[in-house]
Amino acid sequence: EAKAAGRNVYRFYTEALTIAAQERLALETALRRALERNELVLHYQPVVAVASGYTTGVEALVRWRHPADGLVSPLRFIPMAEETGLIVPLGIWVLEEACRQGRAWLDGGRVMPIAVNISSRQFADGALVDTVRRVLDRSGFPASMLTLELTESAIMHKPDQAVRVLEELKAIGVKFSIDDFGTGYSSLAYLKRFPVDALKIDRSFVADIVDDENDRMIVSTVVAMARQLQLSVIAEGVETAEQLAFLTRLGCSACQGYLFGHPLEAGELDFG
Ligand code: C2E
Ligand code: MG
Ligand code: MG
Ligand code: MG
Repeated sequence: EAKAAGRNVYRFYTEALTIAAQERLALETALRRALERNELVLHYQPVVAVASGYTTGVEALVRWRHPADGLVSPLRFIPMAEETGLIVPLGIWVLEEACRQGRAWLDGGRVMPIAVNISSRQFADGALVDTVRRVLDRSGFPASMLTLELTESAIMHKPDQAVRVLEELKAIGVKFSIDDFGTGYSSLAYLKRFPVDALKIDRSFVADIVDDENDRMIVSTVVAMARQLQLSVIAEGVETAEQLAFLTRLGCSACQGYLFGHPLEAGELDFG
């Protein structure tokens, strides 16, 4: 009887897995089609220099404009795209679209640096350097106005290889920031080896900065360390004036978050 129950549990388990696998396959197929049908769209969120209030750049954030479901968050499809490898063509599209937009802004007289997220799998893909070079050439967007946002884990997975890729991209002229900084495992020694330009303090440290002494200490440590290494710091997820006041007091000079602006389509952005 116990055996029979075990079999039932087993069958239930495999059926559940099969359903999950089927849903994933359906999502993968749909996303692949979305890419072909041009259903992806980039939104842009301002990065603001606290002292002047000026927008110093924008971060490009992908969305899927689903014909039935409306705007789909990247959190719902980027992880799957990473697993299946679809992130590579998707990432090329994001780079092309961001550089096209950046060039269009330039042609309209607006100098607007753009940051593009690069996931681990894209970073590990041997073609990234060539892709970036080709996209920049074709779009006419200056390399110096493009920042690639990488996570600590993308870099730390194979640090020696990462240094080589970063050096090659650096030679083209692009910049780098480390996204979600503080949530991964980058060692200080490595941070120094990487030709990185900025650290983006993860919004989990900003969220409770008003109430949590530990988070304040972490932010002030990151700011001090960044200064030592001559890196810029951007605080992510700044939603309130109180958070901004604390961040400013702790020496953080650039911020991004709903307090300054939500991610919007290029045409809806107001640069002030
Ligand atoms: P991320 O790169 O850390 O981007 C910041 C996320 O925080 C964005 O979520 C943004 O909308 C959100 N955010 C901005 N300000 C605030 C705020 O004040 N409060 C809160 N609660 N959230 C805020 P989004 O657009 O949903 O993107 C989520 C993640 O998906 C990104 O995190 C990034 O890791 C990934 N992602 C987005 N676009 C791309 C892309 O084109 N390529 C790749 N590889 N990943 C992407
Ligand atoms: Mg980012
Ligand atoms: Mg982030
Ligand atoms: Mg993130």
